[in-house]
Amino acid sequence: MLEQFEGAATIEKVASLCRRRAFVFPSSDIYGGLGSSFDFGHYGVLLNDNVKAEWRRALIQEREDVVGLDSAIILNPQVWVASGHVVNFSDPLVDCRTCKLRFRADKLEDSACGKRPSKRPGETDQCDLTEPRQFNLMFETHVGALQDSSSAAYLRPETAQGIFINFKNVTSSMRVKPPFGIAQIGKSFRNEITPGNFLFRLREFEQMEMEFFVPPADAAEWHEYWIEQRLQWHLRLGLRESHVRVRAHEGAELSHYSTATSDIEYLYPIGWQELEGVANRGDYDLRQHAEGSGTKLEWVGQEERYVPHVIEPAISVVRSVLAFLCDAYDEEIVEDRPRTVLRLHPRIAPVKVAVLPLIGRDAAMVEKARPLYEDLRRSMSAEYDDAAAIGKRYRRQDEIGTPWALTIDQQTLEDGTVTLRDRDSLAQERIPIDGAKALLLDRLSA
Ligand code: ATP
Repeated sequence: MLEQFEGAATIEKVASLCRRRAFVFPSSDIYGGLGSSFDFGHYGVLLNDNVKAEWRRALIQEREDVVGLDSAIILNPQVWVASGHVVNFSDPLVDCRTCKLRFRADKLEDSACGKRPSKRPGETDQCDLTEPRQFNLMFETHVGALQDSSSAAYLRPETAQGIFINFKNVTSSMRVKPPFGIAQIGKSFRNEITPGNFLFRLREFEQMEMEFFVPPADAAEWHEYWIEQRLQWHLRLGLRESHVRVRAHEGAELSHYSTATSDIEYLYPIGWQELEGVANRGDYDLRQHAEGSGTKLEWVGQEERYVPHVIEPAISVVRSVLAFLCDAYDEEIVEDRPRTVLRLHPRIAPVKVAVLPLIGRDAAMVEKARPLYEDLRRSMSAEYDDAAAIGKRYRRQDEIGTPWALTIDQQTLEDGTVTLRDRDSLAQERIPIDGAKALLLDRLSA
């Protein structure tokens, strides 16, 4: 088992490329920023969308037993009372009386004290830490014009509860029967004590969660099944096997709702960390909401009636994207010049193909290149670039992870072929211009 990330990436290098190449900008930048908040630029939007699309494809489109949902962000506050979040959704907080910073008591080894040279909180004699106290991570807000306790509400800290409270709506309107799942992607909000490490821990992030309802006796088996399914998803989309592992939670680590949880961990440049959690939530949530709402939440079949148990794979888009970026980031020397390249899987790469007339001012080349680009962009994300030397244009596409470039040159004008350049191998092959789209679509669907 690897102890350290293998590759050229560091969090700083990935963050710098993301900013330089319009993936991710620090939020509220011109006002001095807002801690651990980020805005996504053009390529970040495309990358996020592709990751979400692959999740939807694997969990909804290519299955018959999972349906979609998009629930509200602000729910009736009673939802969070019944779910246990009002009482239990907290992290242990410690204050340092010396450096005046706050830390998560269970993550001290990952935190840096405010004093220089930076140490772990509690590591030096000067550190003066308080006893841990529980700090609720939900953001509070008010609904309507009144600002009293009767109008208090929360921004959801997870998308899961929106699914549980729709259990009855879905079972009565869709042709579903356990085992079946409800999948949702949407924003969640947590007032994290120590956010940081670029995209790793944010206060506002999109989650991709699926609640899979099963007969109680089959829960353990389905838990194993979903751990394996989700693991394979990450590997299929390009994460290196040596950078991914599954770790089962032990007793005290389990959440208040969970009977068993395994984390799929990724070896980020900052060490092994949770990428995705796959929890066996038992019947906790449906029972809590049945009691809290007075509505029966159970499966009623021809000859059976029971409260299903629930298996939940839960991941955020940003943690997934950060893992893909770290894994794909590479630096090498090609023909005596340094090159930075994102070796992203073509399915998640923001741009699939760049169309490049070798000489941007050559009207005959442009006349071939524009229609090719306009045809390609109807089927996939494509870019047209006729500015700067060809080498520079290739490097730009390498940095945003574009797997293929089609170059139109003198020979195109003579025989109707173009050069197909491969981002990873740098191999160039000549293919007929007319077959280019079909070839790329074929490779994308492989
Ligand atoms: P952690 O122990 O890292 O705080 P958690 O165990 O509280 O995470 P879950 O409640 O299981 O996390 O959330 C499910 C998934 O949502 C996580 O696996 C992770 O991918 C993502 N996630 C949770 N908190 C954050 C956050 N603050 N920023 C980005 N993604 C997050």
